[in-house]
Amino acid sequence: MSLCRGQSDKRKALFVIVDGISADVIEKIAKPNLDAIAREGGYVRAYVGGQKGTYSQTPTISAVGYNSLLTGTWVNKHNVWDNDIKDPNYQYWTIFRFFESQYPQKKTAVFSTWLDNRTKLVGEGLPATGHLRLDYSFDGFELDTLHFPHDKDKLYIHQIDEKVVNEAAAYIRQESPDLSWVYLEYTDDMGHRYGDGERFHAAIRMMDDQMGRLWKAVQYRQKTFGEDWQVFITTDHGRSADTGKNHGGQSERERSTWMVTNAKNLNPYFRHSTPGIVDIMPTLARHLQVSIPKEQTFEIDGIPLTGKLSLTHPTAKKEAGKIALSWKAADPEGHVKIWLTTTNHFEEGQRDRYLLMDELPVKAEKAVIDVSKLPTGFYKIVLEGRYNTLSRWIVE
Ligand SMILES: [Zn+2]
Repeated sequence: MSLCRGQSDKRKALFVIVDGISADVIEKIAKPNLDAIAREGGYVRAYVGGQKGTYSQTPTISAVGYNSLLTGTWVNKHNVWDNDIKDPNYQYWTIFRFFESQYPQKKTAVFSTWLDNRTKLVGEGLPATGHLRLDYSFDGFELDTLHFPHDKDKLYIHQIDEKVVNEAAAYIRQESPDLSWVYLEYTDDMGHRYGDGERFHAAIRMMDDQMGRLWKAVQYRQKTFGEDWQVFITTDHGRSADTGKNHGGQSERERSTWMVTNAKNLNPYFRHSTPGIVDIMPTLARHLQVSIPKEQTFEIDGIPLTGKLSLTHPTAKKEAGKIALSWKAADPEGHVKIWLTTTNHFEEGQRDRYLLMDELPVKAEKAVIDVSKLPTGFYKIVLEGRYNTLSRWIVE
């Protein structure tokens, strides 16, 4: 085995979703384990819900948020609108599908207190995901009412979270999966039942203890085997402002989330702005050296939180046959290509024909393109820099 190959085999990623904890709450509770992880990388306030009031506005609902993390896209693309998960658009690949298709010999795993995460969102075994297979899964215990009788206080969910976390920690120690997802539910259940207050806060402290077990397992792999682990811990939505019992809407508190990571090389976009849940997927892809084909890259709404970027913060506005674009330059040297298509065949598994509308220095930070000769109604615009791409739709 070459040295290069050996180094790439030491790259590992673990992401964790702990359900329904808004940023204001996590920030006021003692969380020694999350703090220890953040000391190696960072903590940041983040958001879910897409761009509010636009084509990408996304319900602040659990499965919707998980799928935004998995696919790096908002709901207008991945099409999971609620927890029924009726018709996901599997054209927008999850990180698991990209990873398994490039590295079929590497190990993937899901540890979850909700079965649908694997069977419906990741879509294991479905024709529409190319019969994607994970190497290991540990889930479905919420259906086992013999061992986990359903009590009114949902303590059984805490017990399942415990089982899931303990298995994940043991599996990481022994098997070192290359890409794994841990999902825990109890915090959201306590939020729904009791709202803001001690019961919810106690659930968050339990979660922090669980993160400590995962972190110990990761540290064991790093110290004993010299592996390079990237860990992200986040939540899928905040909580309603009045009581904290609900979520789903677009209030500031429901949209306001957070991320904790040990990632090295966090970039100024992570440090100085408010990243979205969609940014985690391209960050994991960068760490795991997943190369995403260009037309699929063009569809990803997130950008990496580590390493170099070319541009961030895009806007697009149409007026009188012209589209005005703006962005913030993250790279003082490079150029940006402005691509445009008036179709969205991608969502049906077909290709869009992109027109190269302009190419100019990134540091220009704005452009105006003439679309007066093109069909009206829909424009998909991609700003392609050297290190990342940004995309915006205009829907008339
Ligand atoms: Zn949730």
